[in-house]
Amino acid sequence: MNIYRGCHHNCVYCDGRAEGYYVEGEFGTDVSVKINAVDVLAQELDLRRKRTPLQPGYVMVGGGVGDSYQPVEEKYGLTRKTLTLLSEKKFPVHILTKSTLVSRDIDLLQKINETSKVIVSFSFSSTDESISRIFEPGVPSPQERLETMAFLKDQGLACGMFLMPVIPFITDTKEILHKTIHDAKDVGVDFIICGGMTLKDGKQKNYFLNILKKYYPDLLLEYQMIYKGSKWGEATSEYYHQLHQSFHTLMNLYKIPKRIPPALFKGILSQNDLIVVILEHLDYLLKLEGKKSPYGFAAYSLSNLQVPLSTIRYQLQSIKGIGSTTEKIIQEVLDTGSSQYYERLLKGDI
Ligand code: SF4
Repeated sequence: MNIYRGCHHNCVYCDGRAEGYYVEGEFGTDVSVKINAVDVLAQELDLRRKRTPLQPGYVMVGGGVGDSYQPVEEKYGLTRKTLTLLSEKKFPVHILTKSTLVSRDIDLLQKINETSKVIVSFSFSSTDESISRIFEPGVPSPQERLETMAFLKDQGLACGMFLMPVIPFITDTKEILHKTIHDAKDVGVDFIICGGMTLKDGKQKNYFLNILKKYYPDLLLEYQMIYKGSKWGEATSEYYHQLHQSFHTLMNLYKIPKRIPPALFKGILSQNDLIVVILEHLDYLLKLEGKKSPYGFAAYSLSNLQVPLSTIRYQLQSIKGIGSTTEKIIQEVLDTGSSQYYERLLKGDI
C-alpha cells in the first residue's frame, strides 16, 4: 500500500521522483494524502464483496513513492487507521519504512502479531551517518533506525533490513557493507535483503547527479560507465553481479538469511504459494553463488496453476519446468512444510 504519494523524506536516490510514477507536485515538498484509503481498504477486505476468497498473505504497508510513516502521518494517522483495520480483519502485516515513528504503533503491531504476524523492515543505504545525511536528508539517522529495530525486536516483533538501494562506489565498499551488516547483526535482524540502485533518465537521474557532483565529483565518470540509460534505470549487470557477490560473502560470514526466512511465512501462505516462494528463493540463492538454476522458471510455471499441488503430486513432472530434482523438493515441502536443502542454503551453511 502506498498511503501517501510523494515523500518528505526526500531521499536523493528515490525513484518516486521518476516521471513514470506520475507523482504530482515537487517531490520532497508536496505530498498527496489518500484520505479515503482506509474506506477503500475496508471495501476490498469485505469478504462478502468477493466472488473468490482472498489468497492468504501479508499486506505490505510500504511505499515505493512515499513512506507510510513520513512526517504527515503524525497529522493524518492513516497508517495507524490502516493497521487498526488490518488488526480487526486479522491480516498479517509487513511494514517497510525508514521512520522511527513506527514505534508509536507498537500496541497495534503487538496485537496483530498475536493473532497473525508482523514484520517490520527498515530500509538503509548503509549505516554510515555522514553518507546518510547527504542522501537521506529528511530521514531519522541510521543510529535512530537501528535503535528502533532493537526496540521492536525486544517487543517480540520480527525485523528485517532492506539494504537498498546500495549506492554505487559510496555504500558498496567492503568496509561500509561490512559495518552495515555487522550493525544489523548486532540488533538481531531476522534477514537482510539487498538491492542495487536504479537511476531512470529524467528527474530522478538529474536530481541524483546534481548532488553527486556537489559531494563526490570524482565519481561522475564512473556513474556514466554503469548507468547507460536503460529503460528501467538499471546499472550494468556486471556491476550488480559484483555487488551481490560482496553481499553474499559477507552474509555467509554473519549467517544472516538473505531472504525472509520460512518461519515468518509458514502457516500464512497457501501451500502452492509456499512452494513458489521457496523455489524463487532457491533460484535467487543459487544465482548469488554464480550457479544456474531451474527453480525460477519452475516457480513461474507453478504460480499459474489453478489447482492445489497436493492434488496433483504424482503428476508434477508433467508441468513445464519441473524435472526430477525440483519434484523431490516439492514433495518434501508438501510433506514437511520446508526443504532441508533450501534451509541450509538460506543460512549459508552450504
Ligand atoms: S523514504 Fe522511501 S519513498 Fe520516501 S523519499 Fe526515501 S526512498 Fe523515497
